[in-house]
Amino acid sequence: MAAKLEQVLEKAEKYVQENKKTVAIAAGATTAALLAAYAWRRAQSAVPSSGPYPVGTLPADAYDAVIVGAGPSGSVCAYYLSRGGAKVAVLEKETFPRDKYCGDAVCTPAIRILEDMGVMQELIANNEAHFADAGGFVSPCGTSYIGVSKQKLGEAACCAVKRINLDMRIAKNAARAGADLKEKFEVSGATFDKATGLWSVTSTTGEVVKGRTLVCADGATSRLATKLGYCTEAPKGVCTRAFIEGGTHNTNFDGRKGDTMMAKWAEIMTNMQPKTYFLRPHVAIPLGIAVVREFINQKVLGTTKDRYQMLPKESA
Ligand SMILES: Cc1cc2nc3c(=O)[nH]c(=O)nc-3n(C[C@H](O)[C@H](O)[C@H](O)COP(=O)(O)OP(=O)(O)OC[C@H]3O[C@@H](n4cnc5c(N)ncnc54)[C@H](O)[C@@H]3O)c2cc1C
Repeated sequence: MAAKLEQVLEKAEKYVQENKKTVAIAAGATTAALLAAYAWRRAQSAVPSSGPYPVGTLPADAYDAVIVGAGPSGSVCAYYLSRGGAKVAVLEKETFPRDKYCGDAVCTPAIRILEDMGVMQELIANNEAHFADAGGFVSPCGTSYIGVSKQKLGEAACCAVKRINLDMRIAKNAARAGADLKEKFEVSGATFDKATGLWSVTSTTGEVVKGRTLVCADGATSRLATKLGYCTEAPKGVCTRAFIEGGTHNTNFDGRKGDTMMAKWAEIMTNMQPKTYFLRPHVAIPLGIAVVREFINQKVLGTTKDRYQMLPKESA
């Protein structure tokens, strides 16, 4: 056996000696083929889970970022990405102007961002932002606070802007900065292609928008992020909101009577008697927030009858 192997090796050595050039070419070609096959397989299975893609690899019909939802988060994100030079699509299921339940209060850090975007100036010019120079609250446990922010800080700590105006102005501002705002585009799903490193975002009508990065800005407990498995928290709250006309603030919630609309609202939404009647004449307040989760967390609902009485039927 050993003698036979020796014979084979001898023959091979002789062949290599006599055909040096051919052997070198064959070995080179085999190595090149193996390397090419390896590179091709690497390229096929490349998972773009991290790290930037080289400039120039984005197909012409794709975006650097596809943002789902043109609420404040999505539109602000779109604005700054566009300002930084990115190619951005913002997909919004509604058409602006569209309303949203909210307390409509914009705090100082948000005001600064809106100023930087030029949105605040626009809101003021259109008489859509109203600064809260003074105001306050009484909490369910009786803690009260009356602020005089303008007097103390030199400026109002927050301002009130209706969401129907605020959201539209932010979204349109993002579009002016270069973002491709697609309204009436209700996203139904998104898939990621590992080979190309692209997200395909699909609408309920079958349209597809492709992008390198996907931003789920479709509201709290994002449905899309939930569907994709990134968000696992279940929605927990419901809310309501009401606008109260100035001059109708003489509400006596602790007494048997009160403003009919507000009492009715309070009964329906919270089944409790809110103690939110801090007021000076002609100061309007947002009372329309009832997040059940918070009430449950604070053990307000149904547990502390001594502090929270049920609204008597006759006052509703
Ligand atoms: C009762 C209440 C009161 C509040 N009060 C205040 C307050 O006073 N001040 C404050 O700063 N914050 C307040 N908030 C919080 C504030 O509303 C949220 O933080 C804010 O709306 C979050 O913005 P967003 O852009 O993430 O989501 P959203 O404002 O919810 O915007 C999401 C957008 O995505 C769109 N969208 C949803 N699904 C799809 C889909 N499938 N395809 C395409 N588009 C889709 C929606 O139409 C919407 O335009 C309040 C919230 C509640 C509930």
